[in-house]
Amino acid sequence: MRESVLLKNYTTFKCGGPARFFDEPQSEEEIISDLRFANERKIPVFILGGGANCLISDRGFDGLVIRIGKGLSDIGIKTNGDTATVTAGAGMLLRGLATTLASQGYEGTEFACGIPGTVGGGVFMNAGAYGGEMKDIVKSVRYINDKGEPCEVTGDALKLGYRTSIFSQMAKNGKTFVITSVTLEVHKGDPAQISGKIEEFSSKRTSSQPLDVPSAGSTFKRPEGYFAGKLIDDAGLRGYSIDGSAAQVSPKHCGFVVNNGGEASAQDVYDLICDVSDKVFDKFGVRLEPEVRIVGFFARKIRVMSFGFKYGVPEDADLILDARSLKNPYWVEELRPLSGLDQPIIDYIESFEETESLICGFREESVHALRQRNNSGFNIAVGCTGGHHRSVYCAVRLASILADMGYRTEVVHRDILKDTSDEQ
Ligand SMILES: Cc1cc2nc3c(=O)[nH]c(=O)nc-3n(C[C@H](O)[C@H](O)[C@H](O)COP(=O)(O)OP(=O)(O)OC[C@H]3O[C@@H](n4cnc5c(N)ncnc54)[C@H](O)[C@@H]3O)c2cc1C
Repeated sequence: MRESVLLKNYTTFKCGGPARFFDEPQSEEEIISDLRFANERKIPVFILGGGANCLISDRGFDGLVIRIGKGLSDIGIKTNGDTATVTAGAGMLLRGLATTLASQGYEGTEFACGIPGTVGGGVFMNAGAYGGEMKDIVKSVRYINDKGEPCEVTGDALKLGYRTSIFSQMAKNGKTFVITSVTLEVHKGDPAQISGKIEEFSSKRTSSQPLDVPSAGSTFKRPEGYFAGKLIDDAGLRGYSIDGSAAQVSPKHCGFVVNNGGEASAQDVYDLICDVSDKVFDKFGVRLEPEVRIVGFFARKIRVMSFGFKYGVPEDADLILDARSLKNPYWVEELRPLSGLDQPIIDYIESFEETESLICGFREESVHALRQRNNSGFNIAVGCTGGHHRSVYCAVRLASILADMGYRTEVVHRDILKDTSDEQ
């Protein structure tokens, strides 16, 4: 067991702060004793494999990181005619597993040759590429449950789906299950075809992916009916970075966020992920969700959007606040052409007591809602009739209150100046 181990050295993104405790167990017994150690201290546990799909906070992980690697990477192959039942330690590299089996003439793991990371991480994520996925070959998985007991799960109970498994589902519920070995079944194939496929996949990867720059592969899950990379490209975000940060949408493959020179912080990468997701949503109405596992604390950005109810409520709002009860400057003729950003409107709205109480109400309500959420952006939509006066003023005020509270904010006025002839 080590203390204060910098996790950026264990992730392919090359960012992330220290783990309070860090261990690389060599056996199931050591995993069980690690879990006991964490239990006794009442600290959280995170399981790390190859770190090829993790974005770990700059503040690191205030608990125990158990890294499943070389110590648990044995492989056993039992043959029965043309079929082999293979048991691989969770810490074995996927690439190693695939090349070992291919070199012995077994087909079915070619897809995994270029996927970085471990067999355990591959099952957790149900990793896949070029038409193959772990689901096609995995028969059963041995793991240690959160009570420190060895267990096994087989077949459909593994719930392997698109980048999901019973293990990722349990993790969402706060349960830490440690995969220790995986049993798969493969069959003999034509050696020329097997090596042909491996060459084809590897040259496809080299020509289309930025393999020489730190990343975690495809940053976003594929939204149904779309490709994340194409949406990002079509949104004009190829090569995009925020204020020249080292975190960038790869110019070579828009589905990858890269960390140029390993110089971006995890927060920079996180900000870019949120920003790209927002920009794509604004343009196409499709919300991109990260495939990358986001671990630890990230400062969440709060987006405060003003809108007009008559143009519809924003679909991605997490919290909707109604400013229609405030006195309406629209009915003062000389104020009508101005917007909620103009001083006479601000003075007018602020001259009424109910404005202050509404804003304070916003604050408590927002903070309450924010506490329910973890590690993702948060969108507050403030609406009035036309989205021109009261909602604009309130959005700006609310954003500044939240900024004073230490949140990072962005203000967007969706409907401002859309139509000043109508009631606002
Ligand atoms: C250049 C590049 C290309 C990539 N291409 C692909 C691709 O084509 N297809 C694809 O699917 N992915 C791809 N990825 C993403 C990544 O390789 C996969 O998600 C891989 O399965 C992650 O494995 P890992 O061991 O690195 O897991 P980690 O990143 O270490 O962990 C991922 C998740 O699995 C959990 N986990 C890991 N090991 C265990 C264990 N033993 N027990 C319990 N939980 C565990 C972790 O807690 C975490 O939540 C790519 C990544 C890179 C950097």
